[in-house]
Amino acid sequence: MDDAEYRKARARLAAEVAAQRITDPRVLAAVERVPRHRFVPTHMRRWAYIDRPLPIGMGQTISQPYIVALSLQALRISPEDRVLEVGTGSGYQAAILAELGAEVFSVERHGELARSAQAVLQELGYVDVHITVGDGSKGWPEKAPFQAIVVSAGAPAVPPALQEQLSSAGRLVIPLGEHGRQDLWLLERTNGEWRSSYLCPCAFVPLVVEEGWR
Ligand code: SAH
Repeated sequence: MDDAEYRKARARLAAEVAAQRITDPRVLAAVERVPRHRFVPTHMRRWAYIDRPLPIGMGQTISQPYIVALSLQALRISPEDRVLEVGTGSGYQAAILAELGAEVFSVERHGELARSAQAVLQELGYVDVHITVGDGSKGWPEKAPFQAIVVSAGAPAVPPALQEQLSSAGRLVIPLGEHGRQDLWLLERTNGEWRSSYLCPCAFVPLVVEEGWR
């Protein structure tokens, strides 16, 4: 496929995402702009604009565009928001966040994935994405507080460190549930109270936690 064909495929993908109750025009524009084929292994490029997760190596996957769009629409990202992402993976969702104007802090436990995501993001000119290697269930305390946190791996419960690192009007999206099957939740803090809203069923790779809250 050449650039024009990729562009057409992206426009089709954005239309498909829009048809699934994604209404935020900024999120849809970001889906239409980010070249997802650059975030998947070369031999998978022809499937990059199908609305599905795809394998990216190390047993991990690039998130499904619809799920990324739904999560980031729910988080109501504003330009200049400091956003923590747990599980960089390919870097695709980080690029969408950067398109929304966020300053992105992303934690990935696999050094190899972190390095390749950083390289692609840099090549594409996404300079506001900072990636570190480590256990994202502990957040990134030096960079807190965050206006929004998006967890891209399935967890049995919300890691307490993440709640602690949210700002006073912070929003958090997290897949909660068992191995292979979770529910995507939005948690919001207003005036010290937490409110949760159910988003949809989902299936993320597991959040691997080395020690601590589990
Ligand atoms: N949003 C990513 C997809 C991430 S897949 C994208 O758009 O491509 C989930 C990622 O979370 C995997 O890369 C996995 O290695 C990572 N992960 C799992 N447990 C983690 C943890 N405790 N800390 C940081 N990263 C973790």
